[in-house]
This record gives sequence, C-alpha cells and structure tokens, in this order.
Amino acid sequence: MKRKHVFIVILALLVGIIGTFCSFAFTKVDFTSPVKGSTKNSYSQDDFLSPRDGHKHKGIDIFAKSGTPVISATKGIVMYTGVWKIGGNVVLIMDPHMRYHYYAHLSEIDTHKFAVVNLGDEIGKVGNTGNAIHTPSHLHYTISNPFKLYSYDYKGAHYSIHYLNPVILLNEYFKTK
Ligand SMILES: [Zn+2]
Repeated sequence: MKRKHVFIVILALLVGIIGTFCSFAFTKVDFTSPVKGSTKNSYSQDDFLSPRDGHKHKGIDIFAKSGTPVISATKGIVMYTGVWKIGGNVVLIMDPHMRYHYYAHLSEIDTHKFAVVNLGDEIGKVGNTGNAIHTPSHLHYTISNPFKLYSYDYKGAHYSIHYLNPVILLNEYFKTK
C-alpha cells in the first residue's frame, strides 16, 4: 500500500472512532425509574449521601415488594453481574455517557455480562440480598461517573464528586408522568 493510502485509511478509522464516540457522548441519554411501578413515594428525597454507619450512602434505596422487576434505567452495556458481600446480587451497567449504574440487593439477576440493554429491559428482581438481609426489600441504586473530574450537580464532600444524585433524575422523570 502506498503511503498516501495508509494515511487515508488511518484518517478514516480515526473519523469513525471519534464519530462513534461523539454520537454516544453527546446524545441525550433517556432515563426511566429502575423499579417497575415505582412512584415518587418509593424513595426518599434526602437519601443520597445520608449518613450510614460510618459512611455516606452513595446512592438511593427504592422500596418495592420482593420480586418486582428491576429494569435498566438507561440503555447500556452490562459490565458485571455477580454476588458481593454488601450488595448481594448486583448488576453494573455502563451507559453511553460512561456513567456506571449499580443495581444491588437483587433477589435474582436476569441479565448477563456484556449484554447490550435498552432502557426498560428487565435485568433482575427487587430483593434484600447482601447487607440488606434485615431490611425491607428495596433496590439500592447508585450512579457513578469515574471519568468526571469536576462537579456541578453533586453535593457533599470531595470524594462524592464521582457520584450522581439519582433523586434529581428520578424527580425529573416523575414530573413527566
Ligand atoms: Zn442503599
């Protein structure tokens, strides 16, 4: 291949990669409440970063009957499913803005690693696995943004700048209902 052709191929690849990245990064990511049938009364307004034995609650709890479907709040890719000591049965999904959505205490996992999910796809069921074993069944839901370097829509201490308050998104979502 001539040098010029190599250059054109590399340029085309770069345009493709950057274009794909931009189309993901700059499109609006639609959002839904991750618990089927939930309402504004299913979670508390000040749950995010509320004190929990020795640390701050880096997400919110959405209460529902055990077995209620948990759905993906956005489209994305399942990065991890498994069993953690604190979270119990957990699912971790990366959305197109590279934010990580963490779904915990599931009674059952209904997806698998590297599955491509759409907004509203069922990924599990509400439960109380992990350290929620003595509390009423609920979904623990955290949105983190490990690549975010600054903060404008976050509250709390410096360590929390990578955590988004799901209450803001949920309130916005239920406003349109
Ligand atoms: Zn929680």
